[in-house]
Amino acid sequence: MPTAQTKPLQSSKRKKSPAQGKFEQLLWGDKTNIDIERYPFAEISPHLRLRHHARAKRLALRLDVKNRLVYLTIPKRISVKAAYKFALENQNWITDRLEELPKKVTLGHGALIPLFGQEYQVHITCDKTLRKTNISLKDNKLIVLTNKENPEARIKRFVISHTLEELSKLAHEKAAILGKKIKNIDVKDTASRWGSCSQDGCLSFSWRLAFASPEAYDYVVAHEVAHLNHMDHSPAFWKQCAALSDNYVRGKAWMKINAQELLRYC
Ligand SMILES: [Zn+2]
Repeated sequence: MPTAQTKPLQSSKRKKSPAQGKFEQLLWGDKTNIDIERYPFAEISPHLRLRHHARAKRLALRLDVKNRLVYLTIPKRISVKAAYKFALENQNWITDRLEELPKKVTLGHGALIPLFGQEYQVHITCDKTLRKTNISLKDNKLIVLTNKENPEARIKRFVISHTLEELSKLAHEKAAILGKKIKNIDVKDTASRWGSCSQDGCLSFSWRLAFASPEAYDYVVAHEVAHLNHMDHSPAFWKQCAALSDNYVRGKAWMKINAQELLRYC
């Protein structure tokens, strides 16, 4: 989960990121363990979620950009009453952060999407007599022939498999330069990590890299492949990364500025 771009509010003056550890979700609604008559959290925002955290020291609000939610972390010893008061005091912060989130891009008819540096327009034709959905990329169009009323999920799967193909090609090319073998590559729906490399040579990437600039996805792939040789971020690693990418300085800068924007695609 990404940290909020704006610093989360905390109940004490000390600025410290929330401790990593086990969260326990508090519920309301049908299965509530909170007196929602007394503490109507959902009225503060329907996108607010509460979590107990074993090691948290203070109340803290955190924006979850990917899921468009705000999490209120409650230390075990803090009462629901105090948590409610804190959330109420910070209601404007909660609603402002949610309103500031970039508008979502769904993969529906007419949507304009950049895929690996080229712009495509989604073109859906629904025909009930078709036996299955067929998707192809042709002349700046992502053409969908389908019997489904809402093929968005199917289009997302197409983009994910297209992303796996493109990034695999690139990663294997770069690994060959190093004389290294990649054990496995997969593409996931993650928001906090754009890429990862395990000790045993498995690479993983976010499917949303499909929408990044060519320098940016090239840099992320070069970064993970460079980890096949250096499992750290030492000067030697960065030298390797630079040698494996087209323009890693620009790619890295692009990710720093625009990565959160990639979360608009869903
Ligand atoms: Zn790294």
